[in-house]
Amino acid sequence: MKIGILSRGPKLYSTSRLVEAAKQRGHEVRVVNPLRCYMNITSQKPEIHYQGVELERFDAIIPRIGASVTFYATAVLRQFEMMGVYPLNESVAIARSRDKLRSLQLLSRKGIGLPVTGFAHHADDIDDLITLVGGAPLVIKLLEGTQGKGVVLAETKKAAESVIDAFSGLRANILIQEFIKEAGGADMRCLVIGDKVVAAMKRTAKDGEFRSNLHRGGSAELGKLTPIERQTAVHASKVMGLNISGVDILRSNHGPVVLEVNSSPGLEGIETATGKDVAGMVIEFIEKHAKQGRTRTKGKG
Ligand code: ADP
Repeated sequence: MKIGILSRGPKLYSTSRLVEAAKQRGHEVRVVNPLRCYMNITSQKPEIHYQGVELERFDAIIPRIGASVTFYATAVLRQFEMMGVYPLNESVAIARSRDKLRSLQLLSRKGIGLPVTGFAHHADDIDDLITLVGGAPLVIKLLEGTQGKGVVLAETKKAAESVIDAFSGLRANILIQEFIKEAGGADMRCLVIGDKVVAAMKRTAKDGEFRSNLHRGGSAELGKLTPIERQTAVHASKVMGLNISGVDILRSNHGPVVLEVNSSPGLEGIETATGKDVAGMVIEFIEKHAKQGRTRTKGKG
């Protein structure tokens, strides 16, 4: 097959592992920077151009889209879909998963466990909102944050009010969330491909920190999931409409709660912690499922 990888960083671990795995399995593979793709939007023969010429036809495309370029890169992916190229994750599902509020609403509608979460637009409504999510301690999150940036633990109502006040002064969109203290600064990252968790790692925050992100100094080890955690991860990925995802789960005393469903999960941490060839499994999934025009949305959504 001819596989394209939409990525701005050919040297990044995940991208280079996917290239390596595709080659190993006998495929042709090319990394394409989504920000350098340009296109004509026409009902006759949609095209994508790259570095001055029309891009060759791929059988499948693997989107590795960074949060900061979601808008343009999903438009590029949509164009591939319009041309009938099979996307590992569809543009609509990626855009959906990038909207934290929308994701939480979709997950809750399907009965997936979530931390109690609140959001409000107006500062005057914050007092009641804090009560609504059960009071302090609580976690305050910037909607645009990634890698644990903009995730703050407020131990008291006073602290919560001043953080919320500061964020709203900056016109930042935030949500507030029940603090799952019993998770003990650890979460489970579940790598889901299709309807299976193919690898799982337990991430633990460094001392004095509650965020377990590896970028925040957290450490990772092989994770052993309970059947219900496995089920939750697969269900969450499915609700978002993703073929591959990284589902973050906290162990709360009301069962597993989903924090986030990531549509471009990094492979370095999980391959290192579990010793599994996740990149190989991604390519294997594509071999089984890629067919021309096989997008549920046909790029329309
Ligand atoms: P990001 O998307 O920026 O990684 P997350 O919402 O995943 O932000 O939060 C980062 C980390 O903070 C999580 O991996 C988890 O360890 C911790 N965390 C986030 N929300 C909560 C919560 N409600 N209760 C306890 N810990 C949390």
